[in-house]
Amino acid sequence: MTSTECIQGTIASQGYAYGQAFLWREGPVRLKPGAEKATDCSHEVKRLNQALATVRRHIQDVQDKAETLFDEATQALFESYQMLLDDEELLETITDLMERESIRAEYAVHRVMEDHARAISLLDNPYLKERATDIRDLSQRILKELLGIVPGPLPDLTDRILVAEDLSPAQSVQLNLHTLQGLLTDLGGTTSHTSILARALNIPAIVGTRHATRMIQNSDWVLMDAVSNRVYVNPDPELVQLYEASRARHQEEHKRLAELVHVPAQTLDGHAITLAANIGLPEEIPAACKTGAQGIGLFRTEFLFMNRSNLPDEEEQFATYRSALVQMHPHAVIVRTMDVGGDKDLPHLGLPKEDNPFLGLRGIRVSLRRPELLRTQFRALLRASAYGSLKIMCPMIATVEEIIEVRSVLQDVREELTAEGISIASHVDLGIMIETPASVMLAHQLIRYVDFFSIGTNDLTQYTLAVDRGNIEIRDLYQPYAPAVLLMIHQAIRAAIGAGKWAGVCGELAGDPRAALLLIGFGATELSMSAGSIARVKQALIQTHHHELKEWSEKALQCATAAEVSTLLEALRSHIFQD
Ligand code: PEP
Ligand code: MG
Repeated sequence: MTSTECIQGTIASQGYAYGQAFLWREGPVRLKPGAEKATDCSHEVKRLNQALATVRRHIQDVQDKAETLFDEATQALFESYQMLLDDEELLETITDLMERESIRAEYAVHRVMEDHARAISLLDNPYLKERATDIRDLSQRILKELLGIVPGPLPDLTDRILVAEDLSPAQSVQLNLHTLQGLLTDLGGTTSHTSILARALNIPAIVGTRHATRMIQNSDWVLMDAVSNRVYVNPDPELVQLYEASRARHQEEHKRLAELVHVPAQTLDGHAITLAANIGLPEEIPAACKTGAQGIGLFRTEFLFMNRSNLPDEEEQFATYRSALVQMHPHAVIVRTMDVGGDKDLPHLGLPKEDNPFLGLRGIRVSLRRPELLRTQFRALLRASAYGSLKIMCPMIATVEEIIEVRSVLQDVREELTAEGISIASHVDLGIMIETPASVMLAHQLIRYVDFFSIGTNDLTQYTLAVDRGNIEIRDLYQPYAPAVLLMIHQAIRAAIGAGKWAGVCGELAGDPRAALLLIGFGATELSMSAGSIARVKQALIQTHHHELKEWSEKALQCATAAEVSTLLEALRSHIFQD
């Protein structure tokens, strides 16, 4: 491959790296077909137990090493091995299969664990999906033990760029990932284990490249730009030199951003803003806290309902919400009631097939048609409210009747729990998401029924511009900077402030450092975004004066096109950073 060609993937951990490739290929153990039958079942069970004992010891070594390399939150990634090894049901299924079909231990392990991994990898939840890699890795370790395959010496990867199909957490520890320059994998996404570990170790990483292991050869020189998502193989010296400067600048910026974690999120004239994180599962909270999040501004609870054959009951939901509240204490957690429909299908709810799902049974409409779902969610939430600072909000509100109905269900549930003698917080703020043009036009009325607004710019953009947010054919028409969208946002925020209440923004726009400044200028007091954006937004925020932001945002409201807004934001950026 020449330096003019380049590989792309998904940036898992930002940075630049230049080094020699190390191609890591650890082919899986393949079992010979037709040699399954065992002659002595009890001997097979003994072999299995011996192999498991050895693997347990190896995993313990990995965990000990992980303790020295990672913080507590990241170490949790390694717990799934132990959990799998302690999963009695899984081990019973393996021994049952061995006994029932008289097959050898390695075949039973492979069959049961592969079935388990395949079932999990079909799930749509990226966090759960990752467990499939752990299961396959563990299965391979047990197979190698059973077959007496001795691993070769581990390579020295110091200053190399590791190129692999994928890596399990255990492999990353054994391979001394922390000595690497960079990491490239064919598989994985931003939430894959490899990505989490790379971020924890601050190693530039690009995952999901699909072909890196085929396009790069061992000892090729590789230039990784994990900022603009480019990988060059055997680059020209001029290109390398160009990147050296970017790399130095990036390292400086990274250091500066890391120092901001404990810096208060306020403007130079002391106007404080809550910078919070968006999450889908409580497991994401430790990472959010590390970035300095001062709360969870959007907990998308529908993820708890997805990719499973049954609905989570009240107890399960209660445990989940309580865990989120306890972890975030004393900061607030804004939990959004289930937002299914649209592009988030939940087959076991039996929702009708619709021609226009985004304009159909979505968000609060589902919850109000199926009040038993909403009641269970409210019961679990109010019970959890005793354990931290909870706020509840509802998605897709378009009419006053909807919020009146929601309030009545919430009040009913509150009375029911009180009658049962269950302790709950004396007041829980209730808010709505502003994501339909109707809710903006009616904001002055809606605000009378709620404590706050949270503006969902992703949907508000789609519904204001009538542009499907997921349709790549019309991607260019999906413009969150469109003046029509900004006017909507401004109007909703002003309505909240006019009623003595507050408004936040939790759509993607809140995580765009320049647009975030406009939102603050409009009067938003809380911005919630993916955790990775918090430091950058804070960096911009702390270099501005609030009165200045008001002026810039007034100018934005005068713009006629998204392009004009974009030019204005560029001028704002240059003004702040004086470049
Ligand atoms: C939004 O619409 O902006 C939002 C935050 O909700 P979601 O992306 O989950 O639809
Ligand atoms: Mg939305």
